[in-house]
Amino acid sequence: KENVLEVKDLQVSFDTYAGEVQAVRGVSFHIEKGEAVAIVGESGCGKSVTAQSIMRLIPMPPGRIKGGQVLFGDKDLTKLSDKAMEGIRGSDIGMIFQDPMTSLNPTMSVGKQITEGLMKHQHMNKADAAKKAIEMLKVVGIPNPETRAQQFPHQFSGGMRQRAMIAIALASNPKLLIADEPTTALDVTIQAQILDLMKDLQKQLDTSIILITHDLGVVAQVVQRVIVMYAGKIVESGPVDEIFKNPRHPYTWGLMKSVPRLDLENKEELDPIEGTPPDLFAPPAGCPFASRCEYAMNICKKHMPEAVEVGKDHKVACWLEHPLAPKVENPVKKGG
Ligand code: SF4
Ligand code: MG
Repeated sequence: KENVLEVKDLQVSFDTYAGEVQAVRGVSFHIEKGEAVAIVGESGCGKSVTAQSIMRLIPMPPGRIKGGQVLFGDKDLTKLSDKAMEGIRGSDIGMIFQDPMTSLNPTMSVGKQITEGLMKHQHMNKADAAKKAIEMLKVVGIPNPETRAQQFPHQFSGGMRQRAMIAIALASNPKLLIADEPTTALDVTIQAQILDLMKDLQKQLDTSIILITHDLGVVAQVVQRVIVMYAGKIVESGPVDEIFKNPRHPYTWGLMKSVPRLDLENKEELDPIEGTPPDLFAPPAGCPFASRCEYAMNICKKHMPEAVEVGKDHKVACWLEHPLAPKVENPVKKGG
């Protein structure tokens, strides 16, 4: 299948008074046409910085794309002028954020915000754009769209605002939609509704999606593929079923055990990963997870493990996959 996006060896740093923070350290992945992919990891793992770098939304300086390529169609987005990039944002690539209030204009009716986008990016006339705006509000499941279009963002509930944000992002018919923690601020029921909506829209419109989240629990519903990031690197990636049924990286095992399960009434049975991620001022030479990994061996601290293919499209960067490594049981697969 055709790739919509290809990220090659992306490296992003922030220059601070204390030194260089290496937030993204050589990340490569691709997104196919119509495919939904999740990038998961704890806060500070580099997932949001990766998304923001694709969109060129990191503040530069202090941010800096140190190396690599972001190929979108025939363009390398890291090389585009600010003006050309602005044309791509909001038309070819849409973005939705955790807090829609930061990207919705509080002084403009929701309908007008969609209409303006359509006029600007789709070159529609005002009447057609206004009609399409109401259609979009209907598509994202906002009741009484004619009335709602006249209202301002503060008159919407959190879930409705996120729907409006999705309508704005999708109105320009983007090839790629990047959603950074789109449901984190919402309660569980609304969260499920928004995820369902994203899934439906992906199918209907054949839009590719990158879903950025710290919560593995929300990805199964929406995506076909999962990329797990830790300390600025990809540690595991694979088809969503593989990641859930046969995760291979100890960090992914930890993430799995810390997912709230609907079948467990008592949340205390959740098992958070102990310790903290490494300092990205001076990233470790070896496996970044070594300081928290209960399976760490001597080699782990000295040498970075290379990603190896352990199944179809399933890659893991861990020394446990080396033929000479001791065999350890996958605690998630065991059903523990
Ligand atoms: Fe643990 Fe070593 Fe694998 Fe890193 S490479 S996750 S430290 S076993
Ligand atoms: Mg984030």
